Amino acid sequence: MKTKGLKRDKVNVITLGCSKNLVDSEVMLTQLKGNGIEATHEAMQDRANIIIINTCGFIDNAKQESIDTILRYADAKANGQIDKLYVTGCLSQRYRDDLEKEIPEVDAFFGTMELPLLLKKFKASYKHELLGERITTTARHYAYLKISEGCDRPCSFCAIPLMRGKHVSKPIETLVQEARSLAKNGTKELLLIAQDSTYYGLDLYKKRNLAELLKHLSDVEGIEWIRLHYAFPAGFPTDVLEVMAERPNICRYLDMPLQHGSTRMLQRMRRGITREKTEQLIAQIRDKIPGITLRTTLIAGHPGETEEDFAEMKTFVENMRFDRLGIFTYSHEEGTHAHTMPDDVPERIKQKRAQKIMKLQESISWEINEQKVGQTLKVLIDRKEGGYFVGRTEADSPEVDNEVMISARENYLRIGDFASITITEATEFDLFGVPA
Ligand code: SF4
Repeated sequence: MKTKGLKRDKVNVITLGCSKNLVDSEVMLTQLKGNGIEATHEAMQDRANIIIINTCGFIDNAKQESIDTILRYADAKANGQIDKLYVTGCLSQRYRDDLEKEIPEVDAFFGTMELPLLLKKFKASYKHELLGERITTTARHYAYLKISEGCDRPCSFCAIPLMRGKHVSKPIETLVQEARSLAKNGTKELLLIAQDSTYYGLDLYKKRNLAELLKHLSDVEGIEWIRLHYAFPAGFPTDVLEVMAERPNICRYLDMPLQHGSTRMLQRMRRGITREKTEQLIAQIRDKIPGITLRTTLIAGHPGETEEDFAEMKTFVENMRFDRLGIFTYSHEEGTHAHTMPDDVPERIKQKRAQKIMKLQESISWEINEQKVGQTLKVLIDRKEGGYFVGRTEADSPEVDNEVMISARENYLRIGDFASITITEATEFDLFGVPA
């Protein structure tokens, strides 16, 4: 069943991977629609005849998910269900030549910075006047704001610089314009994202300028929460803490991937910081911003990791008591520095170590959550699901952190509104409460 010529082209954009990729898809959607092309994002039951897959190429699991998604749509094309299939994003940037040979059903592959070329396939052009405008795909009341692209860091295990290139900060004016436009469209919470948000400005302003950016964004009318993600510990700009302390609409929240708790492993990972310095920084942050929520990410099973190194990671997690913690198992990525080392930690040991850390974190998270029972907290209501209104506190970022459940049987709350909720019960990763 050939669909061409029967009706106007309609595009469905599929996003895989991280929030930075999601912002790229949103920019793509904005440009397609800005050129009068009918386009949707991840519409399930859809009659789109053109599919664009924005892939992820970070680690094994993510790469496999991207390949499976491409193959699924390649089949749909072979069965005449769709006319065109385009692939972009990190996997395409990294493995274009191999993918072109292996999956010829794909009409074209594009890199992470080739949106203008992709638009040409639709006889469309990149509209600079849309800069600062963005159709968001998240709930109306929160949006991601990508403050820079790429990364200059040499972390041993990471392939992102291979796919995203060097660090490029977006000018403060552009970001403020984007934030204003988002606020005008109902955004109340801005999630600042980057590969390394604390590197912001070093290229453009020749100095770390995240604190200045935060001040400008904090002045944008309608923005009630600004949340900082992807901070890097080495060279952390402590003036950010000053701004966080003085501006009530900057969440007392910090996501800072630390990757390990053993100085020996931090050196092998080329993180440019020691365990001691990391602990000093965390103490300084907690001292400057009492009650701050700290989220971190760790990697289990990096080449050379011994039982002693892992024991150090465990005591680090026990002592630092992070509010939120995620852990990955090491993935041997070609082109990275770590790929020159033998991948000597067996997969089952990597998994076992990651599970042990998450077990430990489960009990820490529960203890921290228990302390919130009886407190009345400001909660942003995200959605209604399974008899509950589901929201988040200042301590919770969407998709990755805890949630607050409020029974929808006895209560009515408006999605997108802030509500005062008294916490009545806690579990390891969620809270339950009633309107105050
Ligand atoms: S900071 Fe390190 S881990 Fe993060 S994107 Fe850059 S190289 Fe990768």
